[in-house]
Parts: sequence; C-alpha cells; structure tokens
Amino acid sequence: MNSKNWIESPDDPALDQLCEKISEMANKFETEDTWPQQQLSECGKAGVFSWFLPNQYGGQQWSDADVVRGYLKLSAACLTTTFVITQRTGACRRIALSENEATKTELLTDLCSGKTFSTVGISHLTTSRRHLKKPVLRAEKTDTGYRLDGFSPWITGATAADSLVIGATLDDGREILITVPCDLPGVSIPDAAQLVGLSASQTGRVDFDQVEVDEKWLLAGPVKNVMHGGSGARTGGLETSTLAIGLSTAALNFLNAEREKRDDLAIVSAHFDEELMAVTEDLLAASSGQASCSNEQLRIRANSLVLRSTQAALTAAKGTGYVQGHPTGRWCREALFFLVWSCPQPVLNANLCELAGIEA
Ligand SMILES: Cc1cc2nc3c(=O)[nH]c(=O)nc-3n(C[C@H](O)[C@H](O)[C@H](O)COP(=O)(O)OP(=O)(O)OC[C@H]3O[C@@H](n4cnc5c(N)ncnc54)[C@H](O)[C@@H]3O)c2cc1C
Repeated sequence: MNSKNWIESPDDPALDQLCEKISEMANKFETEDTWPQQQLSECGKAGVFSWFLPNQYGGQQWSDADVVRGYLKLSAACLTTTFVITQRTGACRRIALSENEATKTELLTDLCSGKTFSTVGISHLTTSRRHLKKPVLRAEKTDTGYRLDGFSPWITGATAADSLVIGATLDDGREILITVPCDLPGVSIPDAAQLVGLSASQTGRVDFDQVEVDEKWLLAGPVKNVMHGGSGARTGGLETSTLAIGLSTAALNFLNAEREKRDDLAIVSAHFDEELMAVTEDLLAASSGQASCSNEQLRIRANSLVLRSTQAALTAAKGTGYVQGHPTGRWCREALFFLVWSCPQPVLNANLCELAGIEA
C-alpha cells in the first residue's frame, strides 16, 4: 500500500472492496437519476483517477493491460460509475497527450486527485451528426484564441464538470480540440436527457453561444481529422469492449449463482462461461499488444455477448427480474447502450446483421 492508500494494481484486494461498495450503491440508479457523486468520490479516494495519468502529474500510469483489468472489475460492479470514469479519463488523456505544457500543469494534478472534474464532447467529430452538411459546433480564429458557436450533442457529466474537452470545426474543414472552462460566458448546460439506461451519467447536449476561448486552452489543431493523431488518439480503442465484457461478467455471475440451485441452467451457463473466457482472453491479449483479432472484431463479439448474456440473466430471473429494482432488468437496459455508444459503421452493420439473423 502506498502513502495515499491508493489501489496499486488490479490484483489489489482493495479494488475488490471498492467494487463491492459501488456495486451495492448501483441499484439506486433504478429509481434515481442522481449523479453518482458518492461512487466517484470513493473511486477518487482509492486513486482510480490516477491509473490513467503520468507520474509527473501525480498519476500511477498503469499499463494498458492493467487498466483493462481494472475497468473489467469496476464495470461488473457499476456500469454507470465506470462509464463516467471513461469520459473523465477521455478528457484527462487528451490534455495529457497535448503539447500544451501550461494547460497540463494547470489542470492535471487536480484532475488526477479527483479535486476537479473534466469530461469530453467529441462525438460530433467521429460518430454523431456526421451526415449533416454543416458542423454542429463551429470554431472561428480570433486575435486571442477561438470563438465557439453551436452545440456538442453528447457530453456525459457536463453538469458536474469544471471544464470540457471539446472538438470543433473551422470553416475550412480543419478541426481543433480545446479545453473550455464551464464558467465561460456563453456556455450553457441544459438538463441532462432522460435515457433508456445510465440516466445517472447526466448525459446531454451543451450549447456554446459565441464562446470566446483563450488560445492557452488549445490542445490540438487546427488540422484536418484532429481525432486521428496525438491528442485525438484512442477512439475506437478497447474501452467500450472492456465495459461490455464487464457488464456481461455481472450478468453471468448472476446466471451461475442461479445454476447452483437449478440444473436446467447448466448447459447454457457453461456455454456462456466459455464464450466469456475466450473473449476476455482476447481482450487481455490485445491490451498487452498481442492481439489475435482487430479491435473492431472484439467490439462486435463484446456487443453480441453483452446483449445475449444480460437477457439470459433476465430470462433466468423470470418475472421477478422484470420488476423495477432487480439488477437483471437494469443490466438489459444498460446493455442496449453498447448498440449506440461510439459505434463505428462496421460494428453497427454487424449488430444489425445479427439482429436480422443474417451473415455479416
Ligand atoms: C448515454 C450516452 C452517453 C454519451 N456520452 C458521450 C460523451 O461523454 N462524449 C461524447 O463525445 N459522446 C458521447 N456519446 C455519443 C456517442 O458516442 C455516439 O456518438 C452517439 O450515440 C451517436 O448517436 P447520434 O444519435 O448522435 O447519431 P447520428 O448519426 O447523429 O444520428 C442522429 C439521427 O440522425 C439520423 N441519421 C443518422 N444517420 C443518418 C444518415 N446517414 N442519413 C440521414 N439521417 C441519418 C437518424 O434519424 C438518427 O436518429 C454518448 C451517447 C450516449 C447515448
């Protein structure tokens, strides 16, 4: 144990204790849409936010493989809390990867300790509103920095954020990534959307009405396809698959517990266990640089497993599982999220083909 009592590795028993605590809190989300402040604060105290950041800013800089193993445990315990952490981490990583030393120094230490919260609004540069002729969030160069006008359609936890890491497009098609302090004039955060699941993540749009952002907050660009390099990197990575597999693990743990009492579940749960083990092995191999399949193939398999395993858990729980407050019903709704979260076209096509019962 280190001086801060932080969790030091995914095998640390303190991580299992943390997971137990946040798992107990998870059922509250069934009736409440409140921000998971307590869960996040437990994670902050346990040093979870430091896993992802370099030592020089107080981070523990866990390896990709350890981060995946940590996320697998957290997401099996509470998907909402873990999802919020991924969006927080998305913002922190983009700040850490930027060449803007002043912003890094100003923001990262407090983000690492959990004192402040930042989140990310970049989907309109990757998977949202791409079919529209005009960008939904425009940036214009000014003498002092950039003027932002428009909206970012999806930002998780914006209501709780001190700053946002935002993508925006200039008239010539080049793009920027920039940190926007939430208290700048012109930034407005409407009430979060009511979602099918994960409503406590407080996700919704953020509006920018002629917001003047100082040059000192620029993280990357202006450049074409800012998401493809440096600070933009790491979209389409392993996070989404990891969380889908984490949620599948929760559902299959439930199925296995039921199997102890009911022989009729034996064949199905054994079959699922084999599939879970195989996809988890491939995920861990990919996270240690020894991929046996592409990230996209992993995502397709993880999506399929999470939808089927959560519905299998509900089937085993029968009508009892369909009553509000039972975890299996919540897991089914949460699993639907993987059909829409950061889903590139090939993954979306594969999901549709599976649903239609045809070969991809
Ligand atoms: C709960 C949740 C949390 C999220 N959190 C974040 C976050 O923190 N940060 C972030 O950056 N992103 C976030 N996202 C965004 C996410 O990663 C995807 O970008 C988003 O789900 C894409 O959905 P969309 O409706 O915006 O897609 P769009 O492609 O914009 O589709 C919108 C609508 O446009 C129509 N349409 C779509 N394609 C076409 C077409 N080719 N031609 C004509 N019409 C079309 C359809 O009617 C569709 O319903 C979040 C999403 C959700 C649901």
